Amino acid sequence: MELENKDICSKCGGLCCKQTGCYYSADDLKVVSSKSVKDLLDKGYTCISSDVFLMREDPILLSLRSRNKNASKIDLVSYSRYCTALSPTGCIYSLENRPSGGKYLIPNKDGDCDYYKVTLIDIIESWEPYQQMLRSVCESVSGIPFDELIRIQAQDYFEYIYQHQMYDHNNLTEYRILFPEENDRALKKVFGISKSDSLEARMAKMF
Ligand code: SF4
Ligand code: SF4
Repeated sequence: MELENKDICSKCGGLCCKQTGCYYSADDLKVVSSKSVKDLLDKGYTCISSDVFLMREDPILLSLRSRNKNASKIDLVSYSRYCTALSPTGCIYSLENRPSGGKYLIPNKDGDCDYYKVTLIDIIESWEPYQQMLRSVCESVSGIPFDELIRIQAQDYFEYIYQHQMYDHNNLTEYRILFPEENDRALKKVFGISKSDSLEARMAKMF
């Protein structure tokens, strides 16, 4: 199995990397600690990210991901953007040093690229034992309590999604369930929609 095929990826132009930066597995770091995470964030190409799994007791699962353009070190509620590590000649990392989410994605000339040996969920769930540490890093880097920080970022996310009419964004449904007040505030700010508006009135303002 060939993990890297520069011919296929250069013809594709890095579609996966233009959608969002790929995920690190916890196994990608020699030592997983708040210091090693902060050191990696300081290099400028990595962020702390979150995913929503509504069936989990705590639906927010934090992990490390390659940082997207114009995103900050803490990019919890992220709309998809272009990976900062994508250069005109491809990924700046050698295969050996690439985050697992990019390393184990097998290029396919028909665009049907898929993971080898691991799944994306395996990679994200490798961070399960480090949730408290990652939350502490979020707080010390941002200076804001975690619950407040994620709500601020959720509202920014909703406003961006509505301003750009990205209604098919992957995580929009989950985020609406998790952050209903922030969603309502963004609907009011962007479209002037209030809770008492009928479905027809909402649709007319949004489309
Ligand atoms: S892995 Fe697939 S989607 Fe990503 S750049 Fe290569 S061919 Fe394109
Ligand atoms: S780190 Fe490399 S492989 Fe991963 S998304 Fe960025 S450019 Fe692509």
